[in-house]
Amino acid sequence: MFKELKYLVKLQNIDKELLQINELRGDLPKIVENLNSDINSLEKELGNNRNREKEIILELKNLEGQIADDKEHLKRYQDQLYLVTSNKEYDALTSEIDTVRQEIDNAEYKILGMKEEMENLIEAIKSKDLTLDEKLNELKVRKEQLDSTNQKTNEAQTKLFKSRAEVVKSIPLRYIREYDRVAKAKNGIAIVPIQQIFEEKVDKKGNIEYIPAMVSCGGCSKVVPPQKFFEIRSAKTLIRCEFCGRMLYWDDETSEVRLNNEEEIF
Ligand SMILES: [Zn+2]
Repeated sequence: MFKELKYLVKLQNIDKELLQINELRGDLPKIVENLNSDINSLEKELGNNRNREKEIILELKNLEGQIADDKEHLKRYQDQLYLVTSNKEYDALTSEIDTVRQEIDNAEYKILGMKEEMENLIEAIKSKDLTLDEKLNELKVRKEQLDSTNQKTNEAQTKLFKSRAEVVKSIPLRYIREYDRVAKAKNGIAIVPIQQIFEEKVDKKGNIEYIPAMVSCGGCSKVVPPQKFFEIRSAKTLIRCEFCGRMLYWDDETSEVRLNNEEEIF
């Protein structure tokens, strides 16, 4: 086997172990990431809601102060009504009174709207606080699970990353690029052993013989044509599966597959 191919197989074996470690961690890293992001947005929303709450309290106080002032003005104008001496003065004063009344109405209308907004805000804060608590608790549990899994696997993973880096150094970049591209598309598996299937034949005397029946890709199980099979066995160049694009090699230990077919007698 040419040496780049040997290293590619080695790389794949390391990556398979890394994949197993990731499987062990399962969805936990993603779950923790999602929880963290949910918690962040909840905290931001709660911060905004609480700021708005403070704003409303302040505005309500201002509006109530304004109404109190207006009511005082109104009372003063109304008292003055008894003291007017001309129609012109009377008209001016009633116009002032109308303006102040309108101001009071506007302020009271604003207060109503704000009180309604405040009620909704309090409800929203209560419900978000509750959700935040739940998410924080879940995060704690999930993080503990992830930490314990990480403790078990970190050492192994570090070792694998180290050997991976070493192996990668021995493989030309164009092969690494191809390997990465196929691995990304094919669930991490870029190079697979082919499978040569042998079928069992038993003659009349009971002698068993294994006849080569077909050769297939160990990744997608599609047929590998004979000329490719010989090239793969000679292991002088890199051969790819025509169907799934994975790189193919002959593995002394697993490529020969013997199918037993004891019922069939010839
Ligand atoms: Zn294939």
